[in-house]
Amino acid sequence: ERERLTRLRHKPAVTLDGERVELLANIELPGDGVAALAGGAEGVGLFRSEFLFMNRDGALPDEEEQYQAYRDAVTIMQGLPVTIRTVDIGSDKPLDRMSVHELRHEHTLNPAMGLRAIRWSLSDPAMFEVQLRAILRAASHGPVRLLVPMLTHLSEIRATFDALRRVRAQLMRESIPHGSVEIGAMVEVPAAALTMPIFLRYFDFVSIGTNDLIQYTLAIDRAEEAVAHLYDPWHPAVLRLIADTISQAHAAGKGISVCGEMAGDIEFTELLLGLGLRSFSMHPAQIPAIKQRILRSDSKRLRAYAAAVMSSDEPRSVGKDVSVAGAKVD
Ligand code: PEP
Ligand code: MG
Repeated sequence: ERERLTRLRHKPAVTLDGERVELLANIELPGDGVAALAGGAEGVGLFRSEFLFMNRDGALPDEEEQYQAYRDAVTIMQGLPVTIRTVDIGSDKPLDRMSVHELRHEHTLNPAMGLRAIRWSLSDPAMFEVQLRAILRAASHGPVRLLVPMLTHLSEIRATFDALRRVRAQLMRESIPHGSVEIGAMVEVPAAALTMPIFLRYFDFVSIGTNDLIQYTLAIDRAEEAVAHLYDPWHPAVLRLIADTISQAHAAGKGISVCGEMAGDIEFTELLLGLGLRSFSMHPAQIPAIKQRILRSDSKRLRAYAAAVMSSDEPRSVGKDVSVAGAKVD
């Protein structure tokens, strides 16, 4: 069994009809890169940088601490791309109670819709610049992509690029080594999916965060037990937003990945392949199972399956039938 997994690790993910699929890892701390490589990841599709900011007393990580963490991730990944997401603090990922920044959240009634992620970063430009500096500096050690969470408004897109321009100018002025980065947006809010043409004009790539996209599309708190049964990735509205985002990114010639839980769930592998997705980012432990599913898939057949799913009132039931049929292919 171990031998089989080792062989699988070095095997590229290719469908039966020869479509190459990129499998990336989601990590929380630089050291997780070791598990990512062991799982056969071809890079990091989502480094959740907020884990450097959580569970600590007092001060947030300064530029040097962040730089070292991002550089460590880049070094561990040995030349494979590392996608670093700027902090996604707030909502289900609160700061430690001791932090002064926590005070800003004390009276928040609805944290998922409050000051989180890019909103939080842009509320304190000096703090945001510290993170951007650290990321650009780490990019001098290997390929880095920068990913921005929860973007909704054009003004936020512009403010993000303004901050990047300022930071690049500072680093140049100070003669501090830094690298160039591809810049991507997470698609986590329906407003972003519905205004893809705007996003695609600004960004090099987009990555769909299905965990939040489902939450905000269906108005279901992703952490609320009482409504967990209504948190449904198969909801036609969710699937429509995902399908349209993928096809618009393709039409624009931009990179498109899914980094939410759906990417690592074999229940959705065939559907995402059928919708044309060729880049999946997931927990390292999921990679072998997803790869096996891809190796047994015929992308042409799955296109027809995806079309049937998209035109069904009950997409989940189409899913079951066609999975069984798909399994017979090999
Ligand atoms: C997502 O929302 O799908 C995502 C990948 O981000 P997070 O789970 O960290 O909010
Ligand atoms: Mg998210």
